Amino acid sequence: MLKPRPPIVTILGHVDHGKTTLLDALRKTDVVSKEAGGITQSIGASIVTTKDGRRITFIDTPGHAAFTQMRSRGARVCDIAILIVASDDGVKPQTKEAIDIILKENISYLVCLTKTDLPSSDPDGAITQLEKEGILFEGRGGNVPFLKVSAKKGEGLDALLEMLILLSDMNDIQADPEGELDAFVVETRRDRRGSLASVIVRNGTLSVAKKILADGIESKIKALFDYQDKSVKEILPGEPALVLGFEKSPSIGAKITESNGNIPAPCEQKHMASALEVNQKEPKLNLVVKAQTSGSLEALLANLPSDVQVISCGVGEVIEADIFTAKSAKDCRVFAFEVKVPHNIERLADTEGVKIESFNIIYKLFERIEEILKSGEEEVLGKAQVIASFPFENKKVAGCKVLQGIVSKNDKFELFRNDKKIGIMKAVSMKKEKKDILEAKQGEEFGIIFQPQLDFTIGDMVLSVRS
Ligand code: GDP
Repeated sequence: MLKPRPPIVTILGHVDHGKTTLLDALRKTDVVSKEAGGITQSIGASIVTTKDGRRITFIDTPGHAAFTQMRSRGARVCDIAILIVASDDGVKPQTKEAIDIILKENISYLVCLTKTDLPSSDPDGAITQLEKEGILFEGRGGNVPFLKVSAKKGEGLDALLEMLILLSDMNDIQADPEGELDAFVVETRRDRRGSLASVIVRNGTLSVAKKILADGIESKIKALFDYQDKSVKEILPGEPALVLGFEKSPSIGAKITESNGNIPAPCEQKHMASALEVNQKEPKLNLVVKAQTSGSLEALLANLPSDVQVISCGVGEVIEADIFTAKSAKDCRVFAFEVKVPHNIERLADTEGVKIESFNIIYKLFERIEEILKSGEEEVLGKAQVIASFPFENKKVAGCKVLQGIVSKNDKFELFRNDKKIGIMKAVSMKKEKKDILEAKQGEEFGIIFQPQLDFTIGDMVLSVRS
């Protein structure tokens, strides 16, 4: 009883090459949403119906971090990939990674050259670079289709949709609505209705009251919502849905099958385990991570470097408990990804001395982590140089000048000579022109007595570090 079903499409490519913009532009071409009065908020995947009435399902979390995460539990995720390459920027590291994934997974794909409206656009240059990566294009000795689009101007979108349909037909993408249920989880979220999972059905039908199995846990579907967030009774192959009724929030990429009552022994799948496994190395940075959806949270956690330790993580805005959790850990800050930080929480963080950093772009967050790890900057608050040394009673006073940041008496201090750490100390007295002071800013000079009395010399560097 095989029937054609909408192809499931994902967009891969380098950051900033226009994945999100293209997806938004494609969603706006959906004739059904237009009739229904506009685009609804994403449920994790969307259906675009073309002018000819053909339907395509797009996974709404572009990028291969999310894709790899979805794939990590073995589910077959998409039928077709769009590899995007900005025509003004050409092949970049993540383009190469995306090509690797596509080839390894043997996914049917096309190349979409984006941003063709830019004066600096050079599609031919990008094509040549892609050929160097081994891609053989249609009309140039191979069979990989390529298109030029400007998502900004809406140019090339219809051709792209047509090409996707063509690839879908060529690949005979079919399913049996009466057949065995085969679906997978794209992301999970929580809203006023409770805990929901976005899923895409590959085969069979999801229907209200059906018993399903995900991550070895049986649940009964309480409600289903289609891609326009309308309550429906069933979801057919190739369609995305929001599912209410999971006993336990399923993991991203979890396969969903129909339950026949034989529930396997509790499986050992560890949700978010990859990032939470005990680190071998001493962590250099502790984090409390909050994200808007579990999809982005998992993608984020899975890609953290091993010297970052996640103390706690979750979906939703930053709350009081996050601040206290961060405070109780050593050198811990809160990273908020695509979530709000309410004013009262900001104030609480200030009073408790906890740093919150907000991000809306995943690579910016990773760049920041790299920056912190590289410089050890998460600790260093100020840097001063010893410019004089004089005795005071039976102690030695270091005359210092602040080169960077702020040096505070209550900080911990580290003494460096030629980039080599000599020791750690505290300040017992800090004075400027005979007056006791609590801190000195960039450019200021001050005298300080350390405890223990390390043998500093002129030219040594003093780093003041959060204690
Ligand atoms: P992503 O990181 O791959 O999802 O990239 P985005 O979709 O966020 O796009 C990155 C930047 O490129 C944004 O500033 C977009 O406005 C811009 N951009 C995306 N598509 C186009 C396009 O077709 N033309 C132009 N001129 N800019 C674009």
